[in-house]
Amino acid sequence: MKPLTTDPRRIAVYPGSFDPITLGHVDIINRVARLYDQVIVLIANAPEKPSLFSIQERKDLIRRSLNHVVNVEIVSHDGLTIDFLKQRNCHVLVRGLRAVVDFEYEISMSNINNKLAPEIETILIFARPEYYFLSSRSVKEVARYGGALDELVPLPVVKALQQRFQLDRKE
Ligand code: ADP
Repeated sequence: MKPLTTDPRRIAVYPGSFDPITLGHVDIINRVARLYDQVIVLIANAPEKPSLFSIQERKDLIRRSLNHVVNVEIVSHDGLTIDFLKQRNCHVLVRGLRAVVDFEYEISMSNINNKLAPEIETILIFARPEYYFLSSRSVKEVARYGGALDELVPLPVVKALQQRFQLDRKE
């Protein structure tokens, strides 16, 4: 994709597993897209972490869930997130903050990243109250037992989850 901006300070990188993308993620992306010229959604490829969807499936689901956002680029990356930011000369790393447990993890990641790359700043965006307890993990649990997904994930993800778990139940 052609870069939307040539100024790396106007780009925010939002990394995560996105297995799968939820409405909480979409809300953060919408809000960041209003603050920066470009948002890069970075799917962290962590083969040691078991995942439901492949990187390509996650990428497709994110793309189809973000049709309305014009200034977004979706990429995947192996290795450290800060190395991706360095390669692209970006300085802003965005994370979403939900419950108290997120805080400890995020503050330690931000400190480590700051030691490794002091030029990169972590920006935390508070989750909206309705998404405060929403996680990819809880969504997968709901889907596994056939619960309602429409208020948790975008429509393409509802369908993908239903398909995935229906197949499992038939097997
Ligand atoms: P990771 O495995 O790196 O935490 P996730 O895909 O679970 O990746 O989350 C990516 C980012 O989005 C993290 O900063 C996480 O805190 C944030 N996030 C996850 N769910 C929500 C939500 N419901 N509302 C706001 N932010 C969220």
